[in-house]
Amino acid sequence: MIYVTDLTEYLICPYKIYLKKIKCLPMPQTPEMLTGTLIHKIYEEVLSRERIIIEQRIQEDMEIDEIFKILYADSKRVIKNVMIKYKEKLKGLEINYLDLIKELQEELKEDELLKSIQIKKYISIYGKNENLYNNLFLIKDMEYQISSNELGVTGKIDKIEYDQEGNLYPVELKTGIFTNGIKKHEKLQVAAYALLLEKEKGINVPLGFLEYYQVNQRLPFLIKEEDKIEVLEILEKVKELLNTEKEPIKERKNICQRCGYNSICWSD
Ligand code: SF4
Repeated sequence: MIYVTDLTEYLICPYKIYLKKIKCLPMPQTPEMLTGTLIHKIYEEVLSRERIIIEQRIQEDMEIDEIFKILYADSKRVIKNVMIKYKEKLKGLEINYLDLIKELQEELKEDELLKSIQIKKYISIYGKNENLYNNLFLIKDMEYQISSNELGVTGKIDKIEYDQEGNLYPVELKTGIFTNGIKKHEKLQVAAYALLLEKEKGINVPLGFLEYYQVNQRLPFLIKEEDKIEVLEILEKVKELLNTEKEPIKERKNICQRCGYNSICWSD
């Protein structure tokens, strides 16, 4: 099976796929890559737990600060657990463990405060009813594993959101802030997930989102037919590379500075 991330990596640099898949060279991790992975994991975990926490632990008579305490305590627990799992790797890359925890706690504090205000406002008007979560936050599946034997492609969608009409939307979670427009490989990734969802569910998926969760910014974009065709074209190119094992031309680009293979490609 080919991963959706193989398609996006091919679009960025075919040589990367060659090193990874043909030469089987594991990519050395940079501090930025590790921090990105870790932040991603924390947000995914917090989002996947929030429904159950809100439905089971928030009471109708609670004030904002009490709701906040519950939500924030859970976020801090997630941060701690994920950080413990990555402690040795962080040390190895000389990333300051305690500074990173503090930074993450500050980021999530703001999110949880906003959620607490929304929850309290809803409860004061409608009471704590079974629609609280659906009405305030979209129903979602986190880390949704999806594959198509027909295409020979597999992947994990960060988040799928459902609206009240039964439509669903793939959402790609991003670290950092949004700058300089949606990149081609980001669009390709979400279009590939839309294509996989269409194959699995038999419905049309015309819209996807990029979500910059650290700054609460969401960017919707239309997934057009031509985007899905491009996914299939890139897929064919990746399959060809894997079949022929032909070494692609290596090109030095700006992206090389942040690539884990930099020292292998450009050791001179
Ligand atoms: S360092 Fe540059 S050329 Fe080498 S794999 Fe990474 S992006 Fe491609």
